[in-house]
Amino acid sequence: MKIAVAKGDGIGPEIMEAVLSIFNASKVGLEYEFVDMGKWVFDKGFSNGMTTAAQQTIEELGILFKGPMETPKGKGVKSVNVTARKTWNTYANKRTFQTLHGVETVFSKAGIPIDITIVRENIEDTYGGIEHMLTHDVALSRRFITRPGSMQVIRYAFEMAKQKGARRITCGHKANIMKLTDGLFLDCFYEVAKEYPELNADDKIVDDLAMQLVVKPQQYDVIVMTNLQGDIISDLCAGLVGGLGFAPSANIGDHISIFEAVHGTAPDIAGKNLANPTALLLSGLAMLRHLGFTENAAVIENALLYTLEQGTHTGDFGDRSKPSLNTTEFAGAIINNFGKLPQVNAKPIVANDLSTPAVCLLDRNSMMVSKETEDEKIVGVDMFIESIEQPDTIAQKCLHHGGIKFKLINISNRGTQVWPTGSKYTNLVNQYNLRFEALNENPLTQQDVIGLYVSLSADFKICSLELLNKWGGQKAYSLAQGQ
Ligand code: NAD
Repeated sequence: MKIAVAKGDGIGPEIMEAVLSIFNASKVGLEYEFVDMGKWVFDKGFSNGMTTAAQQTIEELGILFKGPMETPKGKGVKSVNVTARKTWNTYANKRTFQTLHGVETVFSKAGIPIDITIVRENIEDTYGGIEHMLTHDVALSRRFITRPGSMQVIRYAFEMAKQKGARRITCGHKANIMKLTDGLFLDCFYEVAKEYPELNADDKIVDDLAMQLVVKPQQYDVIVMTNLQGDIISDLCAGLVGGLGFAPSANIGDHISIFEAVHGTAPDIAGKNLANPTALLLSGLAMLRHLGFTENAAVIENALLYTLEQGTHTGDFGDRSKPSLNTTEFAGAIINNFGKLPQVNAKPIVANDLSTPAVCLLDRNSMMVSKETEDEKIVGVDMFIESIEQPDTIAQKCLHHGGIKFKLINISNRGTQVWPTGSKYTNLVNQYNLRFEALNENPLTQQDVIGLYVSLSADFKICSLELLNKWGGQKAYSLAQGQ
């Protein structure tokens, strides 16, 4: 079986070499096609950080095993890591955090076992990176949470939890504040939960979840979250089990999956053969299991756990009174321990059952769409304008702009209502939202909205606008604070 391998930047080539030497010693039946991706490819002028040939190889093979890659600093340059995850729709980011015997943490010392899997949505949320400066003072990030995107990742999390025999599956969210976006994610969670009555499904607000994870991590098993919150919580979980050196990650999609460590290129130790290859190795083990190399994965993981139990360590962790090994020596120690079993958490040897990745060359993009809601109508529009005037003055100027179709309902600033009622203690920035609604029950058209836009533009710079829709009589938009 052939997979694509990108060594990455910084410590990437060193840790990749170490991990592949362990795979080769275990006689894993994999062939590697090395592809050109990373900072050095950016530097050659490929704006997405990969060559056309690399993209083609990865799409043909369906599996990418990658080292960390540096994101060049500077405006307009996107992370190749995020681009890869998004381009190939690897919608589920799975990170497993387990107590590793021999890696001392506050919890291991207290005898509290941790076994948490975080499934993080990997495409949407603020990671769309759709950002605009609306005024010189005001930046806007668009946060997309979609029903099809949420259903994909939540279904994956439930199926994985079922196969793992999970005790509990929890949705982390902030739906109390972000009622439409996180509210949609939470609705999808409970919709899918109905199909898995055997699983104990519940939800937690993300701030409470963060606190609970630090106080009683053993309560949690599988957690599914939106992208940014999942990113933060999964690094918190990495800290619970010993840090980023032990945090693997699998980016799962229907056609292409990417396996990589959570940590970055560690420029401070790059080229010194000092890096800890464990996180990349654990990611590689997830990949071997994904492909059905269960026996190789168990032999290697038992050797790794045994090695850690012996107190063998690289410079970034472990007992400082014992000399540390470099990257190559650490990989060699694991190879020497093939066949040995750790005292704690030994993995059962299950014969390989190879599943060739379902590679299918797509000739078009798939459109994911839920059914349209009946009775959809435009009932108003939010006009985001730039102004340094007081709310009353703006409202006065707007009186004639509404014409016979619109009335100004309220004005808000940073989401807080400041007209018709509000407080003089609300600080303002130079960007307001003018909410116009239809004067009567007749639905509005896009042409009506453009008419209002043209009229308003005589007095204001309009930064952006959003239609106010009602679906089946329900408002498809949020209210301003205080409205
Ligand atoms: P980093 O993870 O590279 O390093 C943070 C600290 O952890 C450093 O002190 C480093 O020496 C240490 N460290 C990380 N991995 C280690 C390992 N395997 N063994 C021993 N020590 C290790 O984070 P950073 O410095 O914020 O980022 C550096 C670069 O990596 C940036 O360009 C960033 O964009 C990129 N990055 C890439 C990925 C990825 O490829 N998936 C992830 C995160 C960061």
